[in-house]
Amino acid sequence: MLWTVHKRAMDLRGFRISMYEKQQKLCKEFKDPNWYKAKNKVGQVGFIPANYVKKREGVKAGTKLSLMPWFHGKITREQAERLLYPPETGLFLVRESTNYPGDYTLCVSCEGKVEHYRIIYKDSKLTIDEEAYFDNLMQLVEHYTNDADGLCTRLMKPKLMEGTVAAQDEFSRSGWTLKMKDLTLLQTIGRGEFGDVMLGDYRGSKVAVKCIKNDATAQAFVAEALVMTQLRHKNLVQLLGVIVEDKSSLFIVTEFMAKGSLVDYLRSRGRSVLGGECLLKFSLDVSEGMEYLEANNFVHRDLAARNVLVSEDNIAKVSDFGLTKEASATQDTGKLPVKWTAPEALREKLFSTKSDVWSFGILLWEIYSFGRVPYPRIALKDVVPRVERGYKMDAPDGCPAIVYELMKQCWHLDPNQRPSFRKLREQLEHIKAKELYQ
Ligand code: ADP
Ligand code: MG
Repeated sequence: MLWTVHKRAMDLRGFRISMYEKQQKLCKEFKDPNWYKAKNKVGQVGFIPANYVKKREGVKAGTKLSLMPWFHGKITREQAERLLYPPETGLFLVRESTNYPGDYTLCVSCEGKVEHYRIIYKDSKLTIDEEAYFDNLMQLVEHYTNDADGLCTRLMKPKLMEGTVAAQDEFSRSGWTLKMKDLTLLQTIGRGEFGDVMLGDYRGSKVAVKCIKNDATAQAFVAEALVMTQLRHKNLVQLLGVIVEDKSSLFIVTEFMAKGSLVDYLRSRGRSVLGGECLLKFSLDVSEGMEYLEANNFVHRDLAARNVLVSEDNIAKVSDFGLTKEASATQDTGKLPVKWTAPEALREKLFSTKSDVWSFGILLWEIYSFGRVPYPRIALKDVVPRVERGYKMDAPDGCPAIVYELMKQCWHLDPNQRPSFRKLREQLEHIKAKELYQ
């Protein structure tokens, strides 16, 4: 069976098309490099011409992507006017207001002159004319792009902040955009820091959709999607694509993890349902996902059972790449989960794969205690000082000694003494093979 209709083949993009990373393997099975094996949404397998398939790329690391590339932050009126020179009607930017802190200013070039419109922030809404109100700047810009609605001109061309690329353009260039018309949002399934998570139907498959909340979190949201374009592993929640609608919103679409977060899963089933083999399997799953991040130089920074999700077929996958960065990036320590974060990361912002290993030790403790909150009976403010003095949690009830040994290795105060994820995965595999998990 051959797929011969161009559009049909393109429609398969991103969904179960198996060529991207399996090219090597397939070439062995099917010698002709001009045809690719593909599966459509009802599971039929066929071959499609290679030139009908667009290869997805990871969005280039280091690219400064912005959902609001026309936003220039705190610049003065004069600087804005210089940026909008030479005059071009419809050229615009947004800056933070210097006269009214908290408000913004929309600057538009119009017939040789720059107009400055004050954007008032009122009751969590933005407005210029106190008639039309918007949730965020992207929506406001979208509105005045479609219609001048009282401004001297409609917005026609964004003046881009130097060094930034419009995230929307970059995602479509790299082949990661999906179409809103193919997606039906069904119900809210979670609340995230950067936005709500909804269950959706994308062409007959269940998907999870993270929806952006507001301007303040837009950048973090893009960063998360950006990281996810570069990751592919069976134990990491897979990005399916992003949806950019009208330039004013962004949705991150990922595989749906039917059994929810690992911590809820452990708590709701408990000791009577989940045996030692199952706990070890979750531990091994997470270690494999983390070994992949380690090998690719990504540091997660927020590894915890709440950020591991469980699929319909009980596979644990690491998710929530909101704080994930390539190794070496620095991070503000304000919002860190103290009980999961390595001491050197809390103290000196030293994040590394080895600080993820510390968090993995805490995660193991969570798994073997069926989702208890770490450091029970110790006040939050006392956790860090005690840990710094070498305090380590006891083994959870019924935890095999050999697994508790691994936890303690992860909690070495000297990061260099902690095992790598590769080593941890090997040891967990050994425990599994020898059935030492009882
Ligand atoms: P945050 O970045 O704020 O922590 P998360 O990505 O962890 O947000 O998502 C919040 C919650 O939404 C999760 O704890 C989980 O319950 C739910 N959720 C997130 N992604 C998925 C998914 N792919 N499948 C099912 N539920 C999900
Ligand atoms: Mg989370």
